[in-house]
Amino acid sequence: MIVDRDGRMHSEGTAWLQYLSDSGRSPHTAREYGRRVAWYLSWCAQTMDWRKATLSHIALWRRTVAAAPVVKTNGKPGTRSASTVRLWIVAVRSFYEWADAHELLGTDLLSRMTQLKYFAPGTPAGGEFGVTRRVLADSLRCAAEGDCPPQWITDAGARSNLADLALPLRDRFLVDLLTTTGIRVGEALSLFLADVHFGGGSRQLRCPHLDPHFHVRVGNPVQNGARAKGRPRTLFVHRDVVESYIDYVLERRDVLAAASVRDSSPHVFVNLYSEPRWLGRAMTYNSVKRLMDRCSRDIGYDLTGPHMVRHIVSA
Ligand SMILES: [Zn+2]
Repeated sequence: MIVDRDGRMHSEGTAWLQYLSDSGRSPHTAREYGRRVAWYLSWCAQTMDWRKATLSHIALWRRTVAAAPVVKTNGKPGTRSASTVRLWIVAVRSFYEWADAHELLGTDLLSRMTQLKYFAPGTPAGGEFGVTRRVLADSLRCAAEGDCPPQWITDAGARSNLADLALPLRDRFLVDLLTTTGIRVGEALSLFLADVHFGGGSRQLRCPHLDPHFHVRVGNPVQNGARAKGRPRTLFVHRDVVESYIDYVLERRDVLAAASVRDSSPHVFVNLYSEPRWLGRAMTYNSVKRLMDRCSRDIGYDLTGPHMVRHIVSA
């Protein structure tokens, strides 16, 4: 539950938390969202009614979160990273989505929190043809956000170069998935389309988790000799990874259709950029190795093969 400074229960905040829990969010997500929104509501309570918040209020709050001193996990004082600050905004947005659905808002704040943005062809986000996506409004984004992909390589320059590297859509999704979730290459190559619940689980899927996620399984009947050596687990993904996946799925459909290849592989990662006879078949470890070698060369930083990616991730 969410409680105000005087110990009174915040009824809407508490109802929203109950909704998160009832709708099958992971307890971790509900706790983190609750903590962030509780702070936001206390901050609002000092100055205004949260139902009447405008975009500039939220932008001001974002600056407050970004500037507030925190003790980092290494025990040193610092401030939150751009990607962490973004999570705080995502939690508040989730709260306002719920409030809007319950007609509690006096403003059109929710629609203003996002905007349509066009990503040009040839850019990493735009792919070959360019895409339009709904993203957080500029005033809610951190200036440095584009330079702060997940910290899976210690070298900030290499990290930024890898994020900006123009890659075919399948390779972009593969790199995004490996770098943001820390799964092993063998686990990615063993991943089946049926394990990917980026639209959330459902009764038919026999899966209660509503946030975008996927399941690492060890017993999939793979067609590429890959092995998931880790333990089975469920991993939640960032919205950007979901978008990267959608781009890839569309690309896969188009490429295989253009080559008159029936898309019958259960694997997530299949050959799209190879000789016609290999098209649509499960990608192999060697293809990922070649991709990582190519990325290493292009960004001038040795990713030392797919096996190392895992070790970099866990750093
Ligand atoms: Zn699931």
